[in-house]
Amino acid sequence: MLNININTYYFIGLIISAAIIGIYFIYNKKILNSAISVNYHFTRQCNYECKFCFHTAITSDVLPVEEAKRGLKKLCNAGMKKINFSGGEPFTKPKFIGELVEYCKETLKIESVTIVSNGSLIKNNWFDRYGKYIDILAISCDSNNEDTLKKIGRNQKGKEHIKQLKRIRYLCKKHNILFKINTVVCSENWQEDMSDLINLVKPARWKVFQCLLIDGENAGQNALRDAKKMVVTKEQFNHFCNTHKELKCLVPESNELMRNSYFILDEYMRFLNNVNGKKEPGLSILDTDISVAIDNSGFDRKSFYKRGGKYKWSKGNNLDW
Ligand code: SF4
Repeated sequence: MLNININTYYFIGLIISAAIIGIYFIYNKKILNSAISVNYHFTRQCNYECKFCFHTAITSDVLPVEEAKRGLKKLCNAGMKKINFSGGEPFTKPKFIGELVEYCKETLKIESVTIVSNGSLIKNNWFDRYGKYIDILAISCDSNNEDTLKKIGRNQKGKEHIKQLKRIRYLCKKHNILFKINTVVCSENWQEDMSDLINLVKPARWKVFQCLLIDGENAGQNALRDAKKMVVTKEQFNHFCNTHKELKCLVPESNELMRNSYFILDEYMRFLNNVNGKKEPGLSILDTDISVAIDNSGFDRKSFYKRGGKYKWSKGNNLDW
């Protein structure tokens, strides 16, 4: 009788342990599966001074390239399918970004390798060397008008931003790279009609963001920018989107859609958690288990899909221009 009881308890114990281990693995897999698309802001340095910038130059640090590769490999092993390199301005470090796009495509075989840039520092010979490793290049531009761009700070003295945009557009076509435009809707441009420019350069995707305040970046006491005067209401943002609603490439992103729907890695490869309205860093993925870092990132999987975060993000052989 005693024997039966001991065996029964032993059996129940085994079942409970197996269930706990199973739940742990399912939970862990769910967490890892959520990091399919990651934005690595590897530098905060930039040659522009956009008044609404929400990733400002509070440090000048950049990881050694081998450390960055180690982190990217960890992300890839955890299920990352798309990596976006951003800043600051990524082309303040052309060799670094070149080495990383090559590594991601050639060694890690990542589905989609993309860059967001202001376009002003990209050299033609960089494209000759590294263009083949890029799926999408997004250039930031908020207006048809150079004076408005100057007011926003989206320019560099002596250089016309729109001229740079057109130059990059041509290079993307030449190197078979999907071309994208990112626009921030703010107090300077919400009444504008950018249709002529968009119809001319024909981006595959035109991402339109509502100017967002982030404590410690473009708002609050210690921030390097004060973007309070740049913010627009939901109605003003909708006005801009309605002006361009006929354009098929338009992808609007209000403040609500943006919040917590991005995995953002900073220059030390720490996920930035925006749940409380500021970017709070966790532990670097270089020093911790990746599922723990993801779990503490504040990322909301539902918001990611709601904003259309998963789309056709790899280039084919024949782009339809
Ligand atoms: S180009 Fe981008 S990173 Fe540079 S100042 Fe403007 S918003 Fe900030």
